[in-house]
Amino acid sequence: MGPPRRAEDRSQPIAEIDVLWITAGLGCDGDTIAMTAAMQPSIEDIVMGALPWIPKVRFHNPFLALENGEEFVKAFHLAAEGKLQPFMLVLEGSVPDEGNKDEGYWASMGTDRTTGQPITTCEWIDRLAPKAWAVIAAGTCATYGGIHAMEGNPTGCMGLPDYLGWGWRSKAGIPIVCVPGCPVQPDNFMETLLYLLNMAAGRAPMIPLDDALRPAWLFGSTLHEGCDRGGYYEQAQFAEEYGSPLCIVKLGCWGPVVQCNVGKRGWMGGIGGCPNVGGICIGCTMPGFPDKFMPFMDQPPGSLLSSAAVQTYGRAIQALRRFTQASLNKEPSWRNRRNSAETRGDA
Ligand code: SF4
Ligand code: SF4
Ligand code: SF4
Repeated sequence: MGPPRRAEDRSQPIAEIDVLWITAGLGCDGDTIAMTAAMQPSIEDIVMGALPWIPKVRFHNPFLALENGEEFVKAFHLAAEGKLQPFMLVLEGSVPDEGNKDEGYWASMGTDRTTGQPITTCEWIDRLAPKAWAVIAAGTCATYGGIHAMEGNPTGCMGLPDYLGWGWRSKAGIPIVCVPGCPVQPDNFMETLLYLLNMAAGRAPMIPLDDALRPAWLFGSTLHEGCDRGGYYEQAQFAEEYGSPLCIVKLGCWGPVVQCNVGKRGWMGGIGGCPNVGGICIGCTMPGFPDKFMPFMDQPPGSLLSSAAVQTYGRAIQALRRFTQASLNKEPSWRNRRNSAETRGDA
């Protein structure tokens, strides 16, 4: 196949690519852990070459690597020096504001070989992003700041688009690709990575992203639009406490306005997903998370109006449906000839 190709231009198919994954943003590493549950495809499918027609992938993630210390960061140094091409950069965790204090640092990975000083996460981003074929933000901390960027936090942290700029594009002309979720739904991330690998192979057009830089096909619908509990909502059957199969909007579910697919997709192998297992949606895929969704567990303000409106006709509809259902649960009268004949005294 020859040596890896430089990828200044997307018309050149890429045969091999490195994925450099930094978990040294302000985060909890939950996105990497979530990724080990991915099945569509799994990490193993990608790195073991189980999928045809995509580039060979070398995956560098500190949690999943056998190497550690200097041996692990070697690929990152080479990439920063322009000696490892092409590569995708993945950031997990939010980007702190290293300029908001007089001393110390908020986040780092590895040490500078000459000074022995920590290399901050911001320095890694500054060194690697301009050389990356594509940049992906994994999880809500990396995409929009997430929990660490809550009002009043001392780090001044932010998501990658706020750090690099919302109009930023990689050397291959690709915008920052944001796959939010706290943590990110495993298959959402791996499917996005697979899309980009197909792009790298010259087999897919530019990845479609929405205004928040999320893959449009994954985040185009609200949770509510695909929720298993939607029928209960429509009939105004609302749970008053946890443990009920009914709609949980009154317990604090933000599903009607949150763009998320876990209701349909589940969490692992189609199983799980917040409302499917009784969990209210707290809006973790949204740029306004968490501040705009707090206090959690209060009924969302907009839903007070919509659930009250649903209440006025939902119960009437439910009663009518029960009536129809009772009829549909009976066989048509002509199938019961024997009883009819007995009744008539013909038998
Ligand atoms: Fe952890 Fe959530 Fe941040 Fe991911 S988005 S690093 S899971 S807090
Ligand atoms: Fe909508 Fe949430 Fe109720 Fe599901 S549980 S139907 S997402 S309000
Ligand atoms: Fe996050 Fe809500 Fe989706 Fe659960 S359902 S993953 S809380 S956006």
